[in-house]
Amino acid sequence: MKIGQRFNKLTLKEYFFYIDNYKKYTDFNILGLYRSIIENDKLDITSKIEVREYTHKTFKKSFDFLQLKDPQTYFDIITIGKELTQADENQIWSDIINNQQKILADKKIKHRNFGIYSKHSCGYSTCPLNGLMIRQGALISERFMHFNSDKNEYAAKNKSDRRRADRKRKKQTIQKNMSSD
Ligand SMILES: [Zn+2]
Repeated sequence: MKIGQRFNKLTLKEYFFYIDNYKKYTDFNILGLYRSIIENDKLDITSKIEVREYTHKTFKKSFDFLQLKDPQTYFDIITIGKELTQADENQIWSDIINNQQKILADKKIKHRNFGIYSKHSCGYSTCPLNGLMIRQGALISERFMHFNSDKNEYAAKNKSDRRRADRKRKKQTIQKNMSSD
């Protein structure tokens, strides 16, 4: 049987129904379910938290793996309705980074199941995402995570400006060397 509709359009009652009966549906997707809680505009914050808590009752273990598989969704889900300072956010990212290492260190888990990961590196030593494992090929989500705040966007722009300036400088140096020969 198929659900045949998008999770992010479900009402509170429908969420409960599909979670209770998830085994009957071949297109039931846990990650999709969690993502939909963020995207669903039919639910207010209180309902979103209610759906989250209800979903956790059945899928908490899978949810913990999202720290590795989709850290942005994990972050968004645990922070629903919370007002965070930059320090709070940094702390959460730091916890996620530590938990990723714990998940990967667990010998019972075959790393292959998670695909190939690389560490986030934007070149900024103060970036809270430093050390975060990101699935290879998931460049969109990496970019999304990084351009999340205006501050980061600004930093990234500076970075590309700097790169361009570096390239120019290099070119000039080469030309200079050639002409002085
Ligand atoms: Zn970064």
